[in-house]
Amino acid sequence: MQRSPKHILNNGASIDVLGFGVYKVPAEDCADLVSTALDTGYRTVDTAALYGNEEGVGAAVSRAVAAGTSREDIFVTSKVWNTDQGYDATLAAFDTSMDKLGLDYLDMYLIHWPCPEQDLFIPTYKALESLYHTGRVRAIGVSNFEESHLRQLLDACDVVPAVNQIELHPWLAQTELRALHAELGIATQAWSPLARGGILTDPVLLELAALHNRSVAQITLRWHVQSGHLVIPKASSEARIAENLAVFGFALTDTEMARIDALDRGLRSGSDPNKVN
Ligand code: NDP
Repeated sequence: MQRSPKHILNNGASIDVLGFGVYKVPAEDCADLVSTALDTGYRTVDTAALYGNEEGVGAAVSRAVAAGTSREDIFVTSKVWNTDQGYDATLAAFDTSMDKLGLDYLDMYLIHWPCPEQDLFIPTYKALESLYHTGRVRAIGVSNFEESHLRQLLDACDVVPAVNQIELHPWLAQTELRALHAELGIATQAWSPLARGGILTDPVLLELAALHNRSVAQITLRWHVQSGHLVIPKASSEARIAENLAVFGFALTDTEMARIDALDRGLRSGSDPNKVN
């Protein structure tokens, strides 16, 4: 069975470098798809209240645990949605997510978007800190935070986010934000690591795929891993789920990494964090 190496977060919690994302996985398919991922060797799953499929993720985790996998070996992330920001609303949203997941504890809880116009991410994060201190969640962090949001958060809160989950792929390299994360001890987790599939036609990546006799998805995910990103590709078939995890048995050269680095063109496939509210 393929397995991802682990990464130790800034609070000592251990997460897989490469996990499985379930955005847009229909609720009715989610349990079986996550079971396929867990059977393939994935141990980290990324969901969110928004995705409407937390029940499926929890059911797949329960099945795996019933079949002998240690719960401690699985890492589940969920996220508080924008309409639930604020201290009390976030605590209530967490309870709702936990009811759906059916888990005793959550591995990581993130603020999904900063929503700067709402100006509630600080009380929202204070709710996450309280969940963290009571042990209901083992790590807390943020998603889609830009430098200004991170600086405001760090000025007002005590627990440095373990992760900032951001859109990141060869066409959107986020160089400055990644450098800030490194300085602050925050792990960078890449969402839409394949630019929602758009990256798979890039000519440079196609050339490198042919050279290595790997798929373009594997070249892209290998670039993420060698760049030090945590990564959570989503896929809908058993073959692609397995293919995406099989990136730990080869390496890109420094020159190849530099060629992929040079593909950055600041191109988002998702929303601008300053415009989501
Ligand atoms: P990805 O970049 O992971 O791309 C997924 C797309 O690529 C799907 O269309 C999938 O097709 C296709 N694909 C995956 N693997 C392969 C392969 N080996 N060969 C060919 N095509 C492939 O996009 P996502 O937007 O899903 O991002 C990943 C995860 O990040 C999400 O599932 C979610 O967990 C998280 N996320 C977080 C966000 C946030 O705001 N925090 C925002 C967006 C995503 P198919 O499904 O048909 O197999």
